[in-house]
Amino acid sequence: MTKRSGTSGKLANKTVLISGASIAGPALALWLHRYGFTPTVVERAPELRPGGYKVDLRGVSIDVCERMGILDDVRRASTDMRGGSYVDNAGATIAEMPADFFGGRVDGDDEVMRGDLARILHERTRDDIEYIFGDSIATLTEDADGVDVTFEQGEPRRFDLVVGADGLHSHTRRLAFGDEKQFKRHLGAYISIFTAPNDLDLDRWETYHALPNKLVCAYSSGGESTAKNMFVFGAPELSYDYRDMAQQKKILDDVFTGDGWEIPKMLDNAAAADDFYFDSISLIEMDSWSKGRIVLLGDAAHCASPASGQGTGLALIGAYILAGELAAANGDHSVAYERYESLMRPGVEVNQKFAEGFAKEMTVSSKGKIRLRMALVRMLPYMPWKNLIAKKITEDVQKAAFAVPVKDHKEYSVYEG
Ligand SMILES: Cc1cc2nc3c(=O)[nH]c(=O)nc-3n(C[C@H](O)[C@H](O)[C@H](O)COP(=O)(O)OP(=O)(O)OC[C@H]3O[C@@H](n4cnc5c(N)ncnc54)[C@H](O)[C@@H]3O)c2cc1C
Repeated sequence: MTKRSGTSGKLANKTVLISGASIAGPALALWLHRYGFTPTVVERAPELRPGGYKVDLRGVSIDVCERMGILDDVRRASTDMRGGSYVDNAGATIAEMPADFFGGRVDGDDEVMRGDLARILHERTRDDIEYIFGDSIATLTEDADGVDVTFEQGEPRRFDLVVGADGLHSHTRRLAFGDEKQFKRHLGAYISIFTAPNDLDLDRWETYHALPNKLVCAYSSGGESTAKNMFVFGAPELSYDYRDMAQQKKILDDVFTGDGWEIPKMLDNAAAADDFYFDSISLIEMDSWSKGRIVLLGDAAHCASPASGQGTGLALIGAYILAGELAAANGDHSVAYERYESLMRPGVEVNQKFAEGFAKEMTVSSKGKIRLRMALVRMLPYMPWKNLIAKKITEDVQKAAFAVPVKDHKEYSVYEG
């Protein structure tokens, strides 16, 4: 890798419109502002979206959090999970696992709620950066010197660069590259998560109940008086409007009505939830993440799905690299976009492959196979080869977590922030 000493000369392309205020968008805005750019973030939701699952921060993404100056906040928001259990239909424990049991986590890795991380990033940036909530890009028209942007609500504006950090169903991607169908690969399952009353009185504990082709979970994390309910089910690609929450709640109802354990109550919780999240477990695979002055970041570019356990980490790392490369190239987007993509892509591919394997393991197809898996989980802590299995899982997870070589970037003074 060529060694460079950082920025010199005049910064071009200073105004940057970022679509999406979840993880990738605010993280990019933080870095761009630090490097002297003027980012504006537009978010379709009327306010910062709460909710979501617990997300792992491992390896390089921890390093990036430290460089962003948010690591202490992240640690304070840690889910601090103690462990989990599998229960049967009557709620009796089948097997228990400590929090790090085969989780692939090593010292220094952490876990936070997605909503907490989004809040931390927003709090860190909102005083310096223009956020526009409740609006969306309507059209993008690029010429040699910039991009004319019209909005669904606000007045038209012109920006030097546009970044789509608007998730799996990226609107920016649709405008610049076309229909999402070309890029989305369904991995055969759906996931739903939402906030619910802590009816099971869980204390930093997750309780799973497995059914053929389905997995249900309730958990509560550190510092939360409420719980999260999660549903996973295997299904071929379904046709629904991903912005129609009522329709998604109905799908969940259709799939899980009639099932036992706490599921009837959890379906009621779903009906009442206002941070209801439902999506397919899918990959986004594109030949290129940029077109002219428009570039994609995070899930919009390369969703690795929840099955990778790395989507949030990759969003943070990508934001760091994209901003760093723009600064290193003095704003020359054609140089920066190419370097950003060549640095990120190999690591993204490792994580997507990992996700593909794990997605198949999230649910089990029959009662017999569930019984087998439960027996295995129960016996594993007592098996002589348990350490070998744990070591192999940790190696795989950590390989994915270090797959983007940000460490090399320490030699770039521009990356030092
Ligand atoms: C509310 C919420 C809950 C989530 N819960 C889970 C979960 O339980 N399990 C899971 O695996 N993943 C979940 N995710 C996705 C996960 O957070 C991402 O995979 C990961 O963090 C990468 O982040 P990202 O910023 O690239 O994309 P995302 O986190 O998906 O963020 C995209 C952002 O863009 C916004 N947006 C969408 N369209 C537009 C538009 N037209 N204009 C402007 N803004 C737009 C969205 O509202 C969102 O804030 C959730 C995301 C959100 C927003």
